[in-house]
Amino acid sequence: MNNGHKPIGVLAIQGDFAMHAKMLERIGEPHKLVKQASELAEVGGLIMPGGESTTMLKFFSKEGMGKAIRDFVTVGRPVFGTCAGAILLAKEVLNPTQEKLGLLDITIERNAYGRQVDSSVRQGECPELVSRPVEMVFIRAPIIRRVGESVRVLGRCDGLPVLVEQGDVLAATFHPELTEDETVHRYFISKLNH
Ligand code: GLN
Repeated sequence: MNNGHKPIGVLAIQGDFAMHAKMLERIGEPHKLVKQASELAEVGGLIMPGGESTTMLKFFSKEGMGKAIRDFVTVGRPVFGTCAGAILLAKEVLNPTQEKLGLLDITIERNAYGRQVDSSVRQGECPELVSRPVEMVFIRAPIIRRVGESVRVLGRCDGLPVLVEQGDVLAATFHPELTEDETVHRYFISKLNH
C-alpha cells in the first residue's frame, strides 16, 4: 500500500486513536502513534481522532503541538480529523466557542445532536468516493453549520455535511474507524500519494 511516503501518524494524546491504528493495520498501511510535536517529522500525514477536543486543546497549548500541526499542514502534509479532530481543525467553533487550529473554513457546533442522542448509527452517502451507502457512527457528534467557499462536501447524512475537505485537510463528524468500511481511510491515504 505504501507508495513511497512516510507512515501515517495517528495523534495519540487522548481519544480513540487505537481504532484508527487498527483500521490502518487492516488496510496494510504503515502508521505511527504521535504523542509529541517532534514526532511529526517522521510521518507523511496525520489523523486526529475523536475524543474530547477540550482535553486535547490543553495539551496543544502546553506542548506546542497546535503550532506544529499548523506548520505540518502549511508544508502540504495531509491531515484528517474525525469528530473532536474535526472540531480542532475548524475555523469557528460554537457551543461554546473555544480555541481551534483554524485550518478548515467551517463553522462547527459541538454536541449538536443534543444530550439525549449520545450516539447513533446512520446511513449516509459519499457519492464521489463510493456509490453504495456508508454506515456512519456518530458519538456526541458536532454538526457542521457553515461550509466555506473553498470547502468541498464529500459526504452527507440526513442532508447535513458530514465529510468535508479543503485542500490537504479532511474532516468527518462521524467515526469511520468504528465500522468495517475502509472507504474514508483509503481516500485519506490516496491524498498522501499525490
Ligand atoms: N463531544 C466531543 C467534543 O466536543 C467530540 C466527541 C467525539 O469526538 N466523539 O470534543
